[in-house]
Amino acid sequence: MRTLLIAGNWKMNPPTRAEAVALAQEVKAGVGTAVDVHVVVCPPSVFLQAVDSVLEGSPIGMGGQDMHAQSGGAYTGEVAGAMLVDSGCTHVILGHSERRHGMGETDAMVNAKLKSALASRLIPIVCIGETKDERLGDRTEAVLDEQLAGSLAGLSPEEMAGTVLAYEPVWAIGTGLTATPEQAQAAHAHIRKRLAEAFGEATAARVVVQYGGSVKPDNAAELLACPDIDGALVGGASLKAADFLAIVAAGRQVSAR
Ligand code: PEP
Repeated sequence: MRTLLIAGNWKMNPPTRAEAVALAQEVKAGVGTAVDVHVVVCPPSVFLQAVDSVLEGSPIGMGGQDMHAQSGGAYTGEVAGAMLVDSGCTHVILGHSERRHGMGETDAMVNAKLKSALASRLIPIVCIGETKDERLGDRTEAVLDEQLAGSLAGLSPEEMAGTVLAYEPVWAIGTGLTATPEQAQAAHAHIRKRLAEAFGEATAARVVVQYGGSVKPDNAAELLACPDIDGALVGGASLKAADFLAIVAAGRQVSAR
């Protein structure tokens, strides 16, 4: 019932527009016209328009990596949701751990951005996840609860159903460490239980919850096969078209079962 969503977070890569265009061309060629798995790429904002031109005629969506909560004004260096839409975006990543932990982004800030993204008709991908210390201290579920309550406050069930979540244990991002399928499934099941409590069972059953954290071609299939894992948010491996396409292919195989 939920279509898998495989999204590539290119972060501050690649260094040039020509390389971004080449990567998008390879991904486009590999995905073709298939829509059994939804695919999104999230390039740096300065390359959005160039990548959008490449993706024309393809089912691949495009996401921003962040946005400001305000719709415009004196916010030097920032980008508004409507600007992302105007550049061709369908999605936007919000609350990535590199922003939460590196730039002090709070749940309240993520919540304001989320409401602004929904008002701009973007599909938000809201990232949540615990640090290594929090996991070791047996605080994973408490941290997820706090992030879910703060980030999703005030959403209607319909808005929740139109929002993607990404469970990304911070200790697994860019480290080569991956949550085991059991660890990931347990966290995803917990997230869906909390969504059901807050928004109702029917809404919780509709929400796409991606896993992120060192997803690679060799571990994607077993993670994506977990019942509450509905896709992947891929960092490092999304910069090599062959690796990213192998993860998409793993998603296709799982979906066909
Ligand atoms: C990410 O940045 O969201 C991510 C999951 O990165 P990586 O796949 O490199 O761990």
